Amino acid sequence: MNYKTLREANYARQQEWDTENRITLSYRGNELAGEVGEACNLIKKLERERLGIKGSRATREQLAEELADVMICLDLIAMHEGIDLVKAVQDKFNATSKKYELETRLELSS
Ligand SMILES: [Mg+2]
Repeated sequence: MNYKTLREANYARQQEWDTENRITLSYRGNELAGEVGEACNLIKKLERERLGIKGSRATREQLAEELADVMICLDLIAMHEGIDLVKAVQDKFNATSKKYELETRLELSS
């Protein structure tokens, strides 16, 4: 998988899922917050195990699923707003490297 295929798949699935194109930016924002929350809850559970504290547990595989949901949601928001997320990530990554005088640069193909 590369990022372009994620965008293509997201686009195709949204045609199926939201046939009347009713989903709004605020819906997407809440969706993203929910997925980030799910990931954070799993991180808490993983950390709980590392600290030896009683409570329910989580697995790295579960965290991977929620991180995937976050990435899918990010792309859906970018798609909604017509943002080239690959370019935005590359530009932001490289601006931060430049700001802190770090040599590493990111080159992605979209
Ligand atoms: Mg989820």
